[in-house]
Amino acid sequence: MDDMEIVQELKSKGLPAFGNKQERLDRLFKHFGIPKPGSGAHKDKVVNKIELIKQKREERRAELNKLRKEKALKEAENEALGKKGDIDFLNMIEQKKFKQSLLFPHKSSRNMRLCVCVRKRPIFPKEEEEGENDSISCANPQIKVFESKLKVDGITKYVDQHVFTFDNTFNERESTEDVYRFALEPALDMIFNQGMVTIFAYGQTSSGKTFTMQGIQENSARQLFRLQEQLGPQTRFKIAFYEIYGGNCFDLLNEKAKVQILEDKNNNVVINGLVEEEVSSEMELVERINFAFEKRTTYSTVANNTSSRSHAICRISVVDEYDEVLGKLIVCDLAGSERAQDTKSNSRQRRIEGANINKSLLSLKECIRAMDSNGGHVPFRASKLTLSLRDSFKSRKFHNRVIMMACVCPGNSSSDHTLNTLRYADRLKSRKTTIKQYGRRHQGGKRAASSRRARV
Ligand code: ADP
Ligand code: MG
Repeated sequence: MDDMEIVQELKSKGLPAFGNKQERLDRLFKHFGIPKPGSGAHKDKVVNKIELIKQKREERRAELNKLRKEKALKEAENEALGKKGDIDFLNMIEQKKFKQSLLFPHKSSRNMRLCVCVRKRPIFPKEEEEGENDSISCANPQIKVFESKLKVDGITKYVDQHVFTFDNTFNERESTEDVYRFALEPALDMIFNQGMVTIFAYGQTSSGKTFTMQGIQENSARQLFRLQEQLGPQTRFKIAFYEIYGGNCFDLLNEKAKVQILEDKNNNVVINGLVEEEVSSEMELVERINFAFEKRTTYSTVANNTSSRSHAICRISVVDEYDEVLGKLIVCDLAGSERAQDTKSNSRQRRIEGANINKSLLSLKECIRAMDSNGGHVPFRASKLTLSLRDSFKSRKFHNRVIMMACVCPGNSSSDHTLNTLRYADRLKSRKTTIKQYGRRHQGGKRAASSRRARV
């Protein structure tokens, strides 16, 4: 339409014809109800979009407020329960935990030369009050360790997960009886028939080593005398209990007298002067064990918590009517595995202790590995601990069985120690027990194809 036509059209409709061409055209569009480009409907569209954004923002804010309220509620709930751990980490860990308490049934240690087990102790209310989270999840034969971390921005929280597989793992709900039933009971009768059964408790201080070993000893005392009933009174038991601290050996049944670990000309290891007491009933055996443990703890309060810095070894020998040794059970409560620099006091004495412990735990690992790999050099002379336990790793006379019980604390502040403990236990086996093997044995190989061993 040219300008003249527009003017004529306006006049015919009785509309004013002033203004420039665009203004006249707009007037005409308005008269016919045609929306002007760049205004009207177009404007509405933009307004609608803004409204939508606003609405979404409101929704987002409401959602955030709801989450904040929920978090505050949960925090108050946890506070009332005495838990002071970070709620975000708690939620993240909760989602990653095993949903079931067992992935596979526990394995018996009977046919394993080396059985590596892990036990997680429950978290204590006191630890939760101090802000600790339960950051371990255990479902036989696996264990997950969660590490609570912040990203480099310093705000964003995330949880790192480490998965390990062992022969058996025991969670916090499983009792010492359960642990005993699968770890030691199946192998115990071997000590009546040229067997040398050794069980170690490894882990940081307060991870439950002494608790587990004491329980296991009480259970084994019961079973030993039950087995003796079947065999007759000519089979007798002798107990010796000693402690190795800082490279020295002390007799716990004989007023902590210092004794010497020596090798005789036939290369037999003897502990010179160590008292061996004969016990004739379950009660007497338990009483002797408790006596030795008490000696250890009373001493520890006097001498700077030595109990966690020393190895306690209980040896029960089975002898026949000619005093010939038929077999031995050795229960070994190892020193805390934390490094010397991690302990509170960092004196020279502590560092020497720490070096001695490190040395003995490392040589223990090497000896167990050598034993498990069948043959090869067993470096048992590297420490007093391994020297005194030589027959446990290498013996012409006895069949060896070694059970390693790695104990772990559940708190997140212990994650480093827990990982160290689990790595130590993981490296003991030269031939790995993988979940694949498990699957094949228990599920006819179906699961084996889909699952792969998690490595750290
Ligand atoms: P460690 O010998 O490794 O230093 P302890 O055996 O002394 O540790 O255990 C530390 C504390 O934890 C003890 O008070 C013990 O009673 C408790 N404890 C350990 N394991 C368990 C468990 N499985 N159930 C309940 N309490 C436990
Ligand atoms: Mg202890």
